Formats: sequence, C-alpha cells, structure tokens
Amino acid sequence: MTPNSDSQLRAATVRVAVAVPLDRAFDYTTDDGVPLPRGTIVGVPFGPRQLYGIVLGPGEGEVAPESLKAVSEVPALAPLAPAFVDFLERVAAWTMAPIGSVAKMALSQPQALQPPPQRKLYRRPSPVPVDETLTAARQRVADILGLAGAMSSAELQREAAVSASVITGMAAAGSLEMVLVSDEAAPPPPRLSGGPALSLDQTDAADAIGDMLAKGFGPVLLDGVTGSGKTEVYFDAVSRTIEAGRQVLILLPEIALSAAWKQRFRDRFGVMPTEWHSDVAAGRKRRAWRHAQSGAAQVVVGARSALFLPFADLGLIIVDEEHEQAYKQEDQVVHHARDMAVLRARLESCPVVLATATPSLESWVNAGKAGDAPRYRHLSLRKRIGLAQLPEIRAVDLRQTPPERGRWLAPPLVSAIAERLEAGEQSLLFLNRRGYAPLTLCGSCGHKVTCPNCDSWMVMHRLAGRLKCHYCGFESRPQRDCAQCGEDDSMQACGPGVERLAEEVLQRFPEARFAVFSSDTVASPGSAENFVTSVMEGEVDIIVGTQMAAKGHHFPNLTLVGIVDADLGLAGGDLRAAERSFQMLAQVAGRAGRADRPGIAMLQTMDSGNAVMQALLSGDRDRFLATEAESRRLAGMPPFARLAALVLSAGDPERLQAAMQMLSASRPHFHGVSVFGPSQAPLAFLRGRHRGRVLIQADKSVDLQAVIDGWVTKLALPPGVRLQVDIDPYSFL
Ligand SMILES: [Zn+2]
Ligand SMILES: [Zn+2]
Repeated sequence: MTPNSDSQLRAATVRVAVAVPLDRAFDYTTDDGVPLPRGTIVGVPFGPRQLYGIVLGPGEGEVAPESLKAVSEVPALAPLAPAFVDFLERVAAWTMAPIGSVAKMALSQPQALQPPPQRKLYRRPSPVPVDETLTAARQRVADILGLAGAMSSAELQREAAVSASVITGMAAAGSLEMVLVSDEAAPPPPRLSGGPALSLDQTDAADAIGDMLAKGFGPVLLDGVTGSGKTEVYFDAVSRTIEAGRQVLILLPEIALSAAWKQRFRDRFGVMPTEWHSDVAAGRKRRAWRHAQSGAAQVVVGARSALFLPFADLGLIIVDEEHEQAYKQEDQVVHHARDMAVLRARLESCPVVLATATPSLESWVNAGKAGDAPRYRHLSLRKRIGLAQLPEIRAVDLRQTPPERGRWLAPPLVSAIAERLEAGEQSLLFLNRRGYAPLTLCGSCGHKVTCPNCDSWMVMHRLAGRLKCHYCGFESRPQRDCAQCGEDDSMQACGPGVERLAEEVLQRFPEARFAVFSSDTVASPGSAENFVTSVMEGEVDIIVGTQMAAKGHHFPNLTLVGIVDADLGLAGGDLRAAERSFQMLAQVAGRAGRADRPGIAMLQTMDSGNAVMQALLSGDRDRFLATEAESRRLAGMPPFARLAALVLSAGDPERLQAAMQMLSASRPHFHGVSVFGPSQAPLAFLRGRHRGRVLIQADKSVDLQAVIDGWVTKLALPPGVRLQVDIDPYSFL
C-alpha cells in the first residue's frame, strides 16, 4: 500500500469516542467516504446496540477499513465547538477516566440529538377577557405568565402550584390561550438594563471583572463576606457578557434548593435562567442542551454537570460558593468541577469568577495570598451592604458550663434561646448530623448495631422508625433487645442527631414552634421552598438543622445561631478537616443577623483554643488560612504538592488481597514520588465491597498521571476487582 492510498483510506474513517465507559475510542467508516469534522456527533453500531459518540479526528487505522463498521447516523446538529472537544479530552486525561465516560457526560441527553417535537404552551390572551375574575390559584398562573410569556401545562402546574384542572378551566374561560410552538423556541432574552445601584466596593469589583471580559482567559477569586453583595457583582459581569452576545454558565452547589437565588436572578434580569440539574425534567433538559449548543440559552445556571454542556460561545463562567465540596464528583468521572471550570475557561479563552465568603485554600494560594506567585486575580468585598452587621461570635466552653446529663444544649445557649423567644426573634440550632442518634449500643454487652454492607454504625431515625446506613442506604427496624447477648430492652441511643436535639427543644421550650431542616424532613426542592417560606413568614421560632440550613437562605428575623457541636467537623482529621470545618461554621454563623438586627453565633466547644475556633472568635480568617497554608506546605500536601488516591475494591476479600499485592509489587520508584500503601481503607467495607487504598504524593513538577498510568495500566487485576483513580482526592475514607 502506498502512503498516498493509505491516507485516502484514512480520510474515509473517523475516530469516535463512543458514549460507553471504555478507555479508548473506535474507528468507523463514513457512509459516503467523506470525512466528518472533529466534534461531529454520530450514531454508531456498537455490539448489538446503536450508540452516540463524538468524532475526535480521522481514524487511527489499527483495524483495516474493510473490517470497520460504518457510522449509521449523523444527527442534524452543528459539530461541537473545538474548545469543547478539547475540554472533554483534557478532562479524560487529567482525571484518568475513560474518554467514553466523559463523552457520555457530554451526550447525557440523547433525545436532544433528535429534531424537537412541537409543544403545547399556554399564554395570556391579549386583551384579557373584560369580565375576568381570577381565583387566587388562577391569579398565580396569570402572574407567572406575566413574567414567563408562555409555558406548558406541566410547567405552570409546578411553578404556580396548581392542578391541571386550573389550567384547563382557565383555557375554557378564555383566560388562557393555547399555542403550538417548536421546542426550539429560544428562551426570552434577559433584561439587561435596570440593575441595582452598586456600592463603591461593588463597583470597583464589577469594573475589574468587566475589564477582563473579551480579554481571554482570566481567573478571579471574588472574595466577599456573607451579605456583601457578591451576587450583584457577578450579575453585572453576566449582563455585560450577554450584551456582548456571548453565553454565561453559572455553577451553584445544590442549585435545586436555591429558590432564593432564582428569585434574585428573576428580579435582576426579568426572566428565569435556563436550568440544568438533577431535578430538571427530561424535556427541559433536552431543550437546555439544544439551547446551550445553538447559543440560544444566554445564561445557564446549574449544578456541576452543567460544565459538560456543549456551549456554542462561552464568554464567562461563574463558580459560586467555590469552596463547596459538592463540586467534587466522587464516582464515574471523578473530578472537581471548580478545577475543571478553570480548565474550561482556559480552553474557551474566557474569564472564570470563583465567588465565596470562605475561599478554599487552593484558590487562596492561587490568588497569591500565601506568598506564591499569583495566578488568580483577588477581588475582595469586606463590608456587608446597608445596615447589616457581621454577627458577634462567642464560644460556649462545654468544660465550664456543660449541659445536664443526656442533654446537649449548655446553659448559656439555653438562656440565649429563651431571650430570642421573648423578643419574638428566631434561632437556628445547627448540628450536622441527620437522624436521632449516630449509634445504637447494648447497655449490657456493648454490642453496636452496624451495617451489614459497610464498616459503619446504623443511625437511628426515630421519626421514620428506622435504622439507616448513611453510606449505602441500608435500612432495618430498630430492635429493643440485643442481637448479641439477648438482653431484653438493652439497646440505647448514643449521641445526638437533629431529631434528638428537636426533642430537647420540645422539652425545654414546649411553647416554641420548631422545625427540623435536614434532607430527611425536607426531601425535595418544593418542600425546601415551603420550609423557607414558613420561616420567612414567622411560623417557626426555632430551626433545628443540618448543613442544609446553612446554605444561602436569608432569614431577616434570625438573630441567634447555636452551633451545638463545633468540634464535630474536626473529628476524622483528613487533609481538609480544619479548612472544611472553618468554612461550614463561618457560613452557619453568618446566618445570624442579616437585616438591621445584630446577630450572635454561639459555638459549643470542648476546645476553644484550637485554630479553627480561634479564627472564628477573632474574626481573623486570613490568619487561619495563612496558618493552614503553612502546615500544608510543611507536610508537602496540596495545594503545594500533588496527591492522588487509588481505591481498589472487590466483593471477595481474597481477590482484593491479591490485587493489593500486585499493586505493591510493582509500585513505582521515582524521585519526588512517595507511595503510601496499599493498605486497608479506613472504610474497609462499603456497599458490600472490601476496599484497599493507596495514596501517592508527588512534587508539583511530577507528571502524576503518567506515573499512575505507567504503574496500573499494565496490571491484569483479578476479575471482579475495581480500581478507581482519584486525582486530588477530597475523600479519605
Ligand atoms: Zn448485648
Ligand atoms: Zn451501609
């Protein structure tokens, strides 16, 4: 074969990343022999199935063209933008996840690849019937359409909280008219004028970001205390980007719960953003995907998976609450969405704004605050807007003023709650532990109730009358008698969860109206909105909540935050325990006193001298970050070094042992690389699988992925053994 004919044959083949979890791409021939450009989405036969994939380039020729199957479908879509295909390949290379798994994230809505169906939408007639009188429910429908223009019956039912019969009734009465539109209809454009007047601080920050737009890649750490108006600052950049005709992606953790955030967006821009998260129905996701790809969606707000939407022309990425661990995806393509957002911004040549009140140490160091060369611009907002004051933070030393036996609220906190009740103000009691008690123990023989699938205690959930494993979801019925020694009625609940705390609140303040805010009591975004509304309307005196209560809700009448166990987050002691504990406690404490009422946060602790507590009490966040940075630097830990975890798991413990021995025998020996393990993982049994773990620590100059690749890819692990690579791990279980 001459080189010339070889290249002609190759031109008729394409390399396709098929959306299956396999770490390789496959060659296919094209139907008419015409090469398809990189980024083309294609349907291909794969085993007995037809799957979608993304063309990465010309075929690589390891299989003769005559033995290849042909591309079976080319959906009528523009090829994915080159920067996006680059992004997918770089994510696969960085995370060491199969390229097929990454392609699958980008093609998560296969229905979006087909031409859209027609949709039935309802809108208000113009003019409205003269004799129209609307019930409260019908008025809600009319109000929402006043903002949204037109909506489907299903959307209206959800947004206005009405039944289908309200919609059909309104249509019959002439209060609504039905229109058929193509699913492709673009979302209404945001209103760009009429933003709020910004403070001097805010204007400086907004102008600084504004100057960076259209100047290519530029990361910014937007660092502002709770209530300082960060959102308005980045909304200003959003507005300028839309004005320039480019798209914006806003990432938020747990977006589904943030009704307050959506309301702020609607107040600012007059429309709802295109949403992308697990709670969005399939039809809306299909539209969001197409609108991102066509450029019709000017602003998409979403959870971390929105980073894998195929934007046509991304001009700005915002990562709000950048310090949140929810950005770390722990399965499939294990990655940190904040870090990948910075990568995407680099490839898209656009700014990325990392917004937070408590910066992650990574971003802090990248902003040059620990003495290293700055890679991110640092913009800070240090004042709360208007009259609002930062809360006063006090320690309650549990050694000096302990609660009574079997109770968890110490006398100073109890009196503070009583004062709030007297004054008609609200209190939040924070305990980041779901359920009633974290442990059930036999008072006679000491037997602990554990999960059959995991190395973990079963958590008592008294409201549900169940014992639950928080790792795998296994449930069982609580027993009164000990399964081990047979003693009658000997099983006792140990330690507090939010339910037990609520029980104490009821005993101490029988007149108070209280509510528990955790993922068990508030399971859906709708119920979260109801909960927030009831607190806003003053129907609750005392909120007992987990970290769900700490996120972004503004309760103007909440003036006391009691942190029941401020030491809890420091237990376990992984790399980021202190940092995470500080972030969470600062965020919860910041809930106190949002409006013109000063707030107090009281931290119950056994150790008010530790660095986290001292930083909170003195309000010296920067000193805490500096100390934390130095200790990481000394320990040779991220962000000053590189770290990866290899987690091996198997149903059969002997196979796991064999795999760990193989890994151990072939461990790499390189200068600047240290390998710890393989050893039993701290959580040695999880979801029915035995687990072993290796940590690899390396100098920043080391190509860690290459070291791991050279080590593990040539190993033929025993069947049934899974190996998960986690670059820059956040979980050390
Ligand atoms: Zn017993
Ligand atoms: Zn379990």
